[in-house]
Amino acid sequence: MSQRRAFSPRLGLALALLVVFAFTAGRYWLLPRTPVVERTQPVPPPPVTPPIAAKPETAPTPSEPPVIEPVSTPAPVTVGRLSPPQPSQTRPVTLLQACWTAEQLRGSPQEKQIQKQTIDRSPPARLSYQISPLSTPLQQCIRSVKPRHGEKLVALTFDLCEQAHERSGYDAAIVNYLRDQQVKATFFAGGKWMRSHPERTMQLMADPLFELGNHAWTHGNLRLLQGPAMMAQITWTQAEYERLREQLLQASCVAPLATTASAAIPTRLAVFRFPYGVCNTESLAAVNQVGLAAIQWNIVTGDPAPGQTASAIARTILSQIQPGSIVVAHANGRGWHTAAALPLFVPALRARGYRFVTVSELLAQGEVVAVDSCYELKPGDNLKYDRRRSAQAKK
Ligand SMILES: [Zn+2]
Repeated sequence: MSQRRAFSPRLGLALALLVVFAFTAGRYWLLPRTPVVERTQPVPPPPVTPPIAAKPETAPTPSEPPVIEPVSTPAPVTVGRLSPPQPSQTRPVTLLQACWTAEQLRGSPQEKQIQKQTIDRSPPARLSYQISPLSTPLQQCIRSVKPRHGEKLVALTFDLCEQAHERSGYDAAIVNYLRDQQVKATFFAGGKWMRSHPERTMQLMADPLFELGNHAWTHGNLRLLQGPAMMAQITWTQAEYERLREQLLQASCVAPLATTASAAIPTRLAVFRFPYGVCNTESLAAVNQVGLAAIQWNIVTGDPAPGQTASAIARTILSQIQPGSIVVAHANGRGWHTAAALPLFVPALRARGYRFVTVSELLAQGEVVAVDSCYELKPGDNLKYDRRRSAQAKK
C-alpha cells in the first residue's frame, strides 16, 4: 500500500508532464503551418493601379488629403485615407477615373471666362490627318433625323467655339450636369479650342457619354474663306484631335486600359459644324471630302443672347422637340443660362420617353432630314454673319 502510494503520485506527475510536453511540442510543430494557410487568403489580387493624373504637376499626391484631415479618426480610417484609392478591387476603373481625380474633372466656374488674346493663326503641332469616305445621303446639311419606328431620340449639341483673338471658356457646370445625369451629348470643338484646352479635350474624348465634333480651327466663316485658308479651318482641327488622342493613349495612366481605350475613342472626328451655321457649295463639298457629315440643327436654344433665360431655353426645347431632333447650344462660356436650363428640360424630356444620344448614334438610327444650304431657322437668315465677319476673315 505504502509503495503504491509512493509510486503512484510520481508516475502520475511524470505522465502529466509527458502529456503537457507532447501537447506543447505538437502545437509548436503544427503552428508554422496554420498562419501560412491564413495568410494566403487575404493577399489582395494583383496590385491595384492608383489613379495617375495626366498632368502630374496638377495631380494631388495620395498623401495630400490626409494632411488636412483631423487626427481624431480611428487608425483604420486614417490608414484607409492614406492608402492610394483601390477602385479596381470592387469595380472596373474607367479611363476618366484612371487619369483624373473627381476634383480635376469637376473643374471650376472660373474656367467659363473668355479672355482676349493677340491674334493667333499658328498651325497645330502637326498637320497630318485621316480621311474617310462619307456615304452619299450624309453629303448635305443635316438638320435632324427621322428615327426608324419613330423612336424618341434627341441629340444635344454644344459648340466650343474659339476665335483667333481669344481663349474661350469651358462651362464645367454643363459637363458636370451631363455626367451626373448620364446624358449623352456631342461637343463641336474648335481646333484652337482643343489646343488651348488639351486636358478638357482629352476628358471629353475619354468619356463614353460624349462625342467630339469639328467646329473649324478658329471659327472661320467658311462661306467667305476659300482654298487653303478654308481647308486649314477643317483639316487643322482634324489633325489636332488626332494628335491629342495619341497623346492621351500614350499617357501612363492609360497603360492598364490601353486596349479598350484605343478601341473606344474614335480615331478621327466624323461630324462637323459650320461656324455661324454658314456654308456654301464649296465649303460643304470640302467638309464632305474629308469625310465629315455637316450637322446643323432643328432646335435653336438662342443661348448666346445674354437675355435668354433658362426657362425660355427649356420652353423652346420642350415645345419644339420631336423624335430625331438636334439641339444647338454653347459650352464655351457663351451659353448664358444653358447650365441652369438643363435641369428644366432634361428630366422633362425623359419623362416624355426621350433618350439622349450622340449625333453619330442618331445618324445611325434613321433617315437624315437634310437640305442643300445652311441657315439658322430658315434659308437666308444668317447672311448677317457674312457682313460682320468679312473684314476679319480677309486679314
Ligand atoms: Zn461656334
